[in-house]
Amino acid sequence: MAKKQYKFRCTVCGYEVVIDEPELPADFVCPVCGVGPELFELVEEVEVED
Ligand SMILES: [Zn+2]
Repeated sequence: MAKKQYKFRCTVCGYEVVIDEPELPADFVCPVCGVGPELFELVEEVEVED
C-alpha cells in the first residue's frame, strides 16, 4: 500500500527532512542552523510503496 511522505527544506541553510506528516511539528528545530518550522518550505510530496 502506498503512503505519502513530505519533504521540507530549510529556507535558511538548505537542510532537507522527510516526514510522514504534511506539517512539521511546532517544536521542530533545524539541526544545522537552529530555526523553527516557520522557516521550512514544503518542496515535494513523495509516494512511497511499502
Ligand atoms: Zn537550517
